Amino acid sequence: MGAPGGGKGTIAKKLLKDFKITAISTGNILRSHIIDKTPIGKEAESYVKDGKLVPDSVVLNILKQELDTKKGETILLDGFPRTPAQAEKLKEFFSVDVVVNLEVPHDVIADRMSQRWIHMASGRTYAYDYNPPKVKGLDDVTGEELEQRPDDKAEVVKARLVTYEAQKTPLLAHFRALEGCTVETFKGSESNVIYPEVKAFLSNTFQL
Ligand code: AMP
Repeated sequence: MGAPGGGKGTIAKKLLKDFKITAISTGNILRSHIIDKTPIGKEAESYVKDGKLVPDSVVLNILKQELDTKKGETILLDGFPRTPAQAEKLKEFFSVDVVVNLEVPHDVIADRMSQRWIHMASGRTYAYDYNPPKVKGLDDVTGEELEQRPDDKAEVVKARLVTYEAQKTPLLAHFRALEGCTVETFKGSESNVIYPEVKAFLSNTFQL
């Protein structure tokens, strides 16, 4: 768990390198549906663009489909569940052993989002402050124009942070009350600093 733009994706990528796990990111799946203009993409598009949550039924369906292809694997869920209702549903078909809760200050997130630009077709992401493209505004590989994810725009980021804060407390309460589930919180501004702590915690707690 972590606020949008708080480095969840970055931490997830690092975990995939260091542990034998598979990630499912509902945000990534929704974005590819939107790019491919599938029926799910068409239904989800306006919600994602406005920084609102896509209806639970839609997200649950894509999650179940994805889990079906990954039976028996240790899964890292990135961006799911987002609401207590989703967490309740998840309980029916998936067992959560650990929740990694990332706490990153909101002003740091807002600043970081304004720096993030993406090559939509490939998903290549650049950060103008620490990972800039060779030519400003253009993708290194194709030379095509970079765009801001519509939901990275300042007013949408704000809406997403408000949504996240509202859901966070009940969601954490759900997991803290869930038998056999450990919730661990990591605080900081930089994924590079937070990650070693997450890695040490998971290595010491689980055999992954
Ligand atoms: P993310 O990349 O995880 O920040 O997700 C991007 C957007 O996809 C979110 O702002 C939501 O509009 C949508 N989304 C992703 N996961 C969920 C979810 N579990 N429930 C509802 N909407 C979601």
